[in-house]
Amino acid sequence: MRKIFDFLKKNILVILISFGLGGFVGFKVLESLGIAYFMSSLGDSLPKGSIADKDAFLETLPEGQSLIQKELIPVEKKAKNIILLISDGMSLSQVSTYRLLKGGPNERISVDKFPISGIVLTHSEDAIVTDSASSATAFSTGKKTNNGALGLDKDRKVLENFTEIIDKHGYVSSLISTSEITHATPAAYASHVDLRWKTDEISLQMMDSDVMTILGGGRHFFMPEKMGGKRSDDLNLLEFIKTSHTILTKKTDMDGFDHFNKGKVVGLFADEALRDKETPENHSLEPTSSEMLNFALKRSEQFISNDCKGFFIMVEGSQVDWAGHANDLNYLKREMKDFDEVVNKALNFAKSDQETLVIVTADHETGGLLIEPATPTNYTAPEVKFSFNTGLGYGSHTGVPVPVYAYGPGSENFTGTLDNTDIFFAMIEALEMDNMSGSCVN
Ligand SMILES: [Zn+2]
Repeated sequence: MRKIFDFLKKNILVILISFGLGGFVGFKVLESLGIAYFMSSLGDSLPKGSIADKDAFLETLPEGQSLIQKELIPVEKKAKNIILLISDGMSLSQVSTYRLLKGGPNERISVDKFPISGIVLTHSEDAIVTDSASSATAFSTGKKTNNGALGLDKDRKVLENFTEIIDKHGYVSSLISTSEITHATPAAYASHVDLRWKTDEISLQMMDSDVMTILGGGRHFFMPEKMGGKRSDDLNLLEFIKTSHTILTKKTDMDGFDHFNKGKVVGLFADEALRDKETPENHSLEPTSSEMLNFALKRSEQFISNDCKGFFIMVEGSQVDWAGHANDLNYLKREMKDFDEVVNKALNFAKSDQETLVIVTADHETGGLLIEPATPTNYTAPEVKFSFNTGLGYGSHTGVPVPVYAYGPGSENFTGTLDNTDIFFAMIEALEMDNMSGSCVN
């Protein structure tokens, strides 16, 4: 039996509960440190304000509780395909903020069009506040693990992941990310390492996996340091995989791609993350998330027209998290826009195809984003204030739950309260898994 709080035997856990500032707490403490944003009548000017230290409480949590797995509804009409979209760092405050910035409180964004929604609890094996590696492992394997670990349990035992399992059942997989593809969320579907920072190892394992299409940034993680890359093992992995993979380096390479090519494809559209501030000259060569999804859909359909039973595509909007860490509202808006567009694309595909389960969720919240009246005691003023409320300028992950939205066959299991590990089991339940037909891509 799994015990999620084993670590408490050795450690005293404290949780820091930061108060959002209500009228009684006193808004004046907002004003000396940190960053807040003010939006006047939902306009465009976003001057910086500040946040001060806040009242906080430390709590010790109970020991020895075991994880309760959600009882799933048996899915009668199975999904042929799954598109899983993960916005790193997005909880309801990020969703709400984007809705307000896009068009105001009556605006409706892509996730608002989903018929099914639920709540996902995000703690990891060894902490209440998860990192992206352990939560991605929960989604990809159905097991809790320690923060920092990918595809391994807390005892470093290898956990079979979703793409490995469904490969044996004749499904083809793709991974898409707006960060470097070796980053935690995509890596949890194609590697097994004890620490997410071991990117030399992660990239090798990903290239060796059954995943046929991997798109994102991260060229430097395939190049040795002496060539300006980030590999400490001196391997020129780009050169090494040239014979086994088609390497795409700019978005027009996707347009010119011959979809009868059934080999592995890796798209490395930036040195590190897409839309990196350091490399503005490259941005015209980089695809959006929607363009990458479009390419993966075309490839997947071609695989299905051959031998594959269906497809799985994971898309990560990686930088909503980074915007939260940076306490940067304009950055958040830009990344939420990119994610909103790719969610719309996935939903429209599923609506016309009627055989695809689309799931939208997040690994955790980042930044403690608050939406308050600009003057905390005045609920009638039209101004709204957005502020990040962790770490005094270094926004961290928080322990609040995140939303999940679902559409299509099997979506009935994504309601109520789910643990993040339940997402894995609900995806397995959605697919036809009785017949182990073997890999369709090897
Ligand atoms: Zn983060």
